Amino acid sequence: MSIRRFAAHYVFPIEGPPLRNGVVELDGQGYVRAVWEARNPDALHSTEFHNGAIVPGFVNAHCHLELSHLRGTMPKGLGLTEFVRRVGSLRQAPPERVAQAIDQAIDELQRTGAVAVADICNTPDTIAAKRQAKGLRFCNLVEVFGIGPHEAQSAYAKAKSVQASFAAQLDGAQLVPHAPYSVSDALWVLLQPELQGQRVSLHLGESQAEYELLQHERGELFNRYSRSIASYSIPTGGSPEGVAAHWLPASCHPLLVHCTYAHPEALRALCARFGQATVVTCPESNLHLEGQLPPLPEWRRLGLHVAMGTDSLASATQLSMLHNINLALDTFAELPFVEVLRWATLGGAEALGLETQLGSIAVGKQPGLCLIEQFDFAFMRPTPQSTVRRLA
Ligand SMILES: [Zn+2]
Repeated sequence: MSIRRFAAHYVFPIEGPPLRNGVVELDGQGYVRAVWEARNPDALHSTEFHNGAIVPGFVNAHCHLELSHLRGTMPKGLGLTEFVRRVGSLRQAPPERVAQAIDQAIDELQRTGAVAVADICNTPDTIAAKRQAKGLRFCNLVEVFGIGPHEAQSAYAKAKSVQASFAAQLDGAQLVPHAPYSVSDALWVLLQPELQGQRVSLHLGESQAEYELLQHERGELFNRYSRSIASYSIPTGGSPEGVAAHWLPASCHPLLVHCTYAHPEALRALCARFGQATVVTCPESNLHLEGQLPPLPEWRRLGLHVAMGTDSLASATQLSMLHNINLALDTFAELPFVEVLRWATLGGAEALGLETQLGSIAVGKQPGLCLIEQFDFAFMRPTPQSTVRRLA
């Protein structure tokens, strides 16, 4: 295939300011050869000119594809505690239905411009579909949870067997803890050798109940666990951030997911313990379950490294990163689009260690190109009417 040139009213390279009448030149394999601003519109005659904004492919830093069959089953405002309980009871579904929903979800990711996704896995259910998926990279994170110390060994062994399936059929997977409140000290001990130097996701501060449990030994999560598990003891750490600081090795690269209720300063102190830590926001999921977003402008002011995810279709209506960008912009008028776009592209690529290949339109990268149409050039942001599609 030959060289192609794509141009639009604006190109957002991410590393560097937006380019008016920007042009991107790709080689036959989709590697960027050049990107520039066409000062003379006549210079655009040999390009594919598009009405809208060209951005790099999106990096979805948090998803659970294996829950895709739960789309539309969870009412709004359910709260995290009840959500987790219902997901547990609804997981069992006919394998064909689960597989079909995963296929459709991957198709949706591709159609809406994702080029990579960090996907939480509790089962091998997504392997077959991922082997077929073209143009989409997966960072597979096998999640471990177990609240009772007596189940630590079996929870660990189950996750190791899921990990072995990924290693045999795809290019491996990383074991990750679920959340500060759902992993016993005994299980954290077993996980230690798995976490050293790795990219490790952790759901953190997703609900107020998590703080009540870990800080005050009370609340709905505490009541549920202490009543149902005789050997239950509170994980060491004193708070969600404290558990993460106590148990995540300093050599790992955490993806701290949601952090809706985390105090920004506590989050900054936690991130500072690691060479590279990323906070991952999933706007639609947070709004659906808890009715609020984390203080994203404060994260920005503190200089936290931010990425964006969609979470699963159990708590979101769609897997479009553009939809989540719009939700963040609509909630916080002070956030500039270029910053949120960076979270959804290069921020995620850096979190997953893919920044030399994806996340920005830079020479030598193979980022994928997306076109956002119905773009509002007066305010330099997408609108609720905006659509996105892959150009390359
Ligand atoms: Zn999640």
